Formats: sequence, C-alpha cells, structure tokens
Amino acid sequence: SLAGRNAVVTGSTSGIGLAIARALAEAGANVVVNGLGDAAAIEAARAGIEKDFKVRALYNAANMLKPAEIAGMIAEAEAQLGSVDILVNNAGIQHVSPVEDFPIEKWDAIIGINLSSAFHAIRAAVPGMKKRGWGRIISTASAHSLVASPFKSAYVAAKHGIAGLTKTVALELATSGVTVNCISPGYVWTPLVENQIPDTMAARNLTREQVIRDVMLNGQPTKQFVTVEQVAGVALFLCSDAAAQITGSNLSVDGGWTAQ
Ligand code: NAD
Repeated sequence: SLAGRNAVVTGSTSGIGLAIARALAEAGANVVVNGLGDAAAIEAARAGIEKDFKVRALYNAANMLKPAEIAGMIAEAEAQLGSVDILVNNAGIQHVSPVEDFPIEKWDAIIGINLSSAFHAIRAAVPGMKKRGWGRIISTASAHSLVASPFKSAYVAAKHGIAGLTKTVALELATSGVTVNCISPGYVWTPLVENQIPDTMAARNLTREQVIRDVMLNGQPTKQFVTVEQVAGVALFLCSDAAAQITGSNLSVDGGWTAQ
C-alpha cells in the first residue's frame, strides 16, 4: 500500500500521467496533478481522484518550461502534504518534422518539457527524499529512449537524455533508499499519439490508416497499442517493496518493439 505516501505526477491531466496518478491514488497515495488543459476538465480529473480513492489530490499548474515553477510545485507539495515521496516525470510533447525544417522553438520546447523539466523536478525533490531515506523517481521515457525513428530528432534526443539522467541519478542515490527508473512504452493510444497522425501523414505522404498500420504498429510486434493502464501498472510496481532493488533501469513496455 502507498497509504501515507505523497506523489507528484507531471503531465497528469491527460493520457499516461492521469492513469499513473489514478493508479497511485488507488494504492493510497495523495497526489499532485499537474498539466495543461481546460480548467473544468482538470478540476474534474482532480476531484475524481479524491472521490474515487479517498485520498488528497491537489492541482499545480506549473509550466514544465519554467524551472522556478517546477521547483515551486515541489516546495508547495512538501508544504501542503508534508513530503514528496514519489516523483513521476511524465509531461511530454511531440513534433514530427525533417531535421532541416525542424522549428527551432519546437526543438527548445521538446528538450525543455521532455528532458530538462525532469532534471529540475529531481533536483528539487531529492533533498527531501534523501532526508527521509525513501523515494521513488520514475520518468516516462519511450522506446525512443533506446532506438530512433526518422523525423523525431528532438523527441528521440530528449528521451535518450531521460535514460541517461535516470542512470546517473540512480547511481548518486543508490545508498539512500531512493530508486530511479524510467519506463519506455511503445505506442500508447493517447492524445499525444492521435495528434501526430496528421503531421506523419504529411511527412511520409501516407493516409491515416497507413500511418496507424505501417508506421505506428509496424514496429510493434504484438500489433496492439499499449494501454495507459498497462504503463501505470509498471509505475505502481516500481513504487512497491518488491522493486526496491530495481534502480537505474529502463523498463520496456513496447509489445516487443525494441527486441528487434
Ligand atoms: P498526453 O498529451 O495525453 O499527455 C501529456 C501531458 O503533458 C498532459 O497532461 C499535458 O498537459 C502535459 N504537458 C504538456 N506540456 C506541458 C507543459 N509545458 N507543462 C506542464 N505539462 C505539460 O500524452 P501521453 O501520451 O500521455 O504522454 C505522456 C508521456 O508519455 C510523455 O512524456 C510521452 O513522451 C510519453 N510517451 C508516450 C507514448 C505514447 O505512445 N503515447 C509512448 C512513449 C512515451
């Protein structure tokens, strides 16, 4: 049980992050929900967690491009809940374009949101975890932390960065009771995936059906999308005592993609 534990999940107003926040709450943890979106939908997600799982659920609007807001989110969580025991770095965006046309501001945003935000959150959360002698840091990486696909230069660079950051911080915290791991999903059916279909259609001159079958599920040997609940289940396992010796790992949940 995670009763008495407090978790911050970045990018948890949607998709994988929301599923992770709900899974941690179901196990008894209080959660801080973070992310962008429609205010009413965010409040519904937050209130739904409190109602369904009888835990505290707070919302923090920190923009993952703003280091001071990220540090402020960790400080506020510690002030309101007493600690941050579980940090899930999950916020992420995608942009699909040939490298020579890749918009510079999109490169900066992807590196900022998908990679640097994890550094800023880890940096802020580690002192408290070390002091209490227990912590779980989990980042949502991607199969693209291990292999590449064309037209995703910023995303692949950021996710390889998450894999390296995970290993480094795991070594630094190895004797402190804090484990540091990342989870690498293949294609999960979320708004992030749905929204990249039009750009992929344009970049590769394909139809919607061809993008789903020949690009997305082509490399996923099971020929099925991963579900958000399946990713959340791995995050929950990493928070358990059974996973106390798993640190510095990159756990693939990719239907066999990176086995090839
Ligand atoms: P999603 O679009 O459903 O969710 C992304 C979340 O990040 C949302 O809550 C969004 O509000 C938040 N976010 C975006 N920009 C932000 C910012 N500037 N500040 C704060 N929050 C911000 O996408 P998802 O598929 O659930 O993606 C979650 C994570 O999983 C990402 O890191 C993504 O790279 C990774 N991932 C997704 C897949 C997939 O197939 N969907 C596969 C591998 C890895």
